[in-house]
Amino acid sequence: MSNKPCILSIDQGTTSSRAMVFDADIQVIASAQQEFPQLYPAEGWVEHDPAVILDSVISVSRQALASAEQQGYSIAGIGITNQRETTVVWNRSTGKALYNAIVWQDRRTAEQCEQLKQQKLETQVQARTGLLLDPYFSATKIAWILDNIDGAREQAEQGELAFGTIDSFLIWHLTGGKVHATDATNASRTNLYNIYSGKWDPWLLDTFNVPKQLLPKVMDCSAHFGDTDNSLFGRAIPITGVAGDQQAASIGQCCFAPGAIKSTYGTGCFVMINSGDKPVISKHRLLTTVAYQLEGKPSYAIEGSIFVAGAAVQWLRDGLGLIDSAAETESLAAGLEGNSGVYMVPAFTGLGAPYWRPDVRGAIFGLTRATSPAHMVRATLESVAYLTHDLFTAMANDGIKPASLKVDGGMVANDWFLQFLADVLALPVCRPVVMETTVLGAAYLAGRQLGIYGDFDAFTALWRGAGEFEPRMEECQRSDLLEGWQDAVRRAT
Ligand code: ADP
Repeated sequence: MSNKPCILSIDQGTTSSRAMVFDADIQVIASAQQEFPQLYPAEGWVEHDPAVILDSVISVSRQALASAEQQGYSIAGIGITNQRETTVVWNRSTGKALYNAIVWQDRRTAEQCEQLKQQKLETQVQARTGLLLDPYFSATKIAWILDNIDGAREQAEQGELAFGTIDSFLIWHLTGGKVHATDATNASRTNLYNIYSGKWDPWLLDTFNVPKQLLPKVMDCSAHFGDTDNSLFGRAIPITGVAGDQQAASIGQCCFAPGAIKSTYGTGCFVMINSGDKPVISKHRLLTTVAYQLEGKPSYAIEGSIFVAGAAVQWLRDGLGLIDSAAETESLAAGLEGNSGVYMVPAFTGLGAPYWRPDVRGAIFGLTRATSPAHMVRATLESVAYLTHDLFTAMANDGIKPASLKVDGGMVANDWFLQFLADVLALPVCRPVVMETTVLGAAYLAGRQLGIYGDFDAFTALWRGAGEFEPRMEECQRSDLLEGWQDAVRRAT
């Protein structure tokens, strides 16, 4: 066997599963990616088939691993990062899921959240979890499965079932059903985990009616989670790094110092700011979450979550058929002088931070006979920048005023979008050389545990920016645009 060690990093995302292999210098040496179907069984519902997710992960891992081995590398460990909050409940003896994975975007439990809000429980929930009452988080999704699948609640109480976010589901299956574990970042997105005590919280379990027998063990982000079953990759490989996708992106962007901030533009958009070793509770409806946990010590972050970003571009392509590829949006938007008063509110699955309105739906305003597909495209890209601005306003009200913003995710390939974002935020926006920050972050966590990668300083020294977008819009134009947007939001809500 070769002595060139490398790390296999798995990114189980919302629309695709990806595997990348990184060498000891954190260079990409192999990669594979596979999209999988999104299931929309009812209005506001979003599901994935867990068996399809698992197959896609095994398939991309095998492809990337084979390519790395052909090049004379040997996989020393595996890192996993994943779409967060998405909920799976499976049978401990068969490994089979009782129901499809209920995806983070799914709004079916809006009513349950509203009832808990009416019981005035949101402040207590936030004081324990850093989160709010919204269908986004796992707790009400778990209860929905237990209450809607025949016999599920009894089986759960008898300890026959397991709950996991996608990381946990993958760890279980990759280890041949030997390990039921998650990491602190994923646990911190369930609404069941107390971010102060670092434990599953009995009051929360009771409030959301979730039996504790379902829950995985919570571990550090860099740890020995278990070894893969021999049948999968021909030998046992240790899983040594795990983090939710936004936390992994934040690590991949080297946001280790308090105040360091990144925004990821994939399916949704997620802004995360490191707040150091103390959780800071937002007074303006942002979330508090575990950024990472190493050697038993958590670091925290404040997060703004927007449910629809690149997904709106995907809708232009797949739903409306206005464009053939996401990349076309750049020249279409750039070809217009302005937005001609067309504003789109992409609330396809409600509005996330700082609005938290699961009931609102998407809207377009300002249409005239002169409105063209290009205007629709431009309004879509603009809306993601405006939603980011809303998060920055909430942050500013919480006393957080960043001087610049690091960005990543599929949408940041679009130069027009990044320039518009810099203009609307009135902040420099910086794109890194390695845009795959999520998968890079998980690789770092896994390699750190194995001693292949060094500490934060050594890792940060390798981070490179690939160009900055400076704000250059006149202030009066900026405030006119923002006024138009705020008016559209008022009308949509
Ligand atoms: P995820 O990890 O959430 O699946 P990615 O980070 O892979 O998402 O980003 C994919 C998203 O980026 C898609 O929703 C797609 O519409 C969008 N996207 C990709 N390229 C562009 C582009 N050039 N301009 C605008 N959006 C883009």
